[in-house]
Amino acid sequence: MIVLKTPKEIEIMREAGRLVARVLRVLEAEAAPGVTTADLDRLAERLITEAGAVPAFKGYRGFPATICTSINEQVVHGIPGPRVLRKGELLSIDVGVRYGGYYGDASVTFAVGGRADRRASRLMEAGKGALAAGIEKAVPGGRLSDISHAIQSFAEGRGFSVVRDYVGHGIGQAMHEDPQVPNYGPPGQGPLLKPGMVLAIEPMVNEGDYAVTCLKDGWTVVTVDRKRSVHYEHTVAVTEDGPLILTLP
Ligand code: MG
Repeated sequence: MIVLKTPKEIEIMREAGRLVARVLRVLEAEAAPGVTTADLDRLAERLITEAGAVPAFKGYRGFPATICTSINEQVVHGIPGPRVLRKGELLSIDVGVRYGGYYGDASVTFAVGGRADRRASRLMEAGKGALAAGIEKAVPGGRLSDISHAIQSFAEGRGFSVVRDYVGHGIGQAMHEDPQVPNYGPPGQGPLLKPGMVLAIEPMVNEGDYAVTCLKDGWTVVTVDRKRSVHYEHTVAVTEDGPLILTLP
């Protein structure tokens, strides 16, 4: 069942989303070479709790940290720890909060120290573009898989692949609500998009093949070919006026 949100609820979700965006911006600025992913996690937890919100991932099915930090071939759900960041590595940070009873969820990937090689830059552009293409289809009257198809077309059009095994999701008073939002598939299928739907749209775009596997820690998802991956996510409301990105500063 897809839960539609009222404009008032969407306003609260926008506050949650603003906090997510702010935390991501600070973390990206702090993620310099020599910093550990645990350092970033501690900072995120402090920023979220000081804002009167709750880290959404911590304790979720036993996840041990506030944020997910996924480096290079790691796709999603990397666990922060003593790992030191090195210049030029691709770091994906996923932040989720609960605020005022509602969730916000977003992710960005960037090069540590701002130095990406040419192929990494192209991969990141493909990921960002795929997310933007998907968001553009989050309009009333469209079908859910229009979003999926736009994402896949954009990423594959740039010569990259989209992960199949992990998908976006509805979001609201629960972090994961219906519907699932795949990042691939033909257009024109699935539920009709209506004002009040709120979706976490989150393409994972791989440099090589789309196949992924989970490490023995039970969380970290990596590409099977160990080539790099990027992950961009926004929480987006479908409104009469078009897509409204809630996870912006
Ligand atoms: Mg998500």
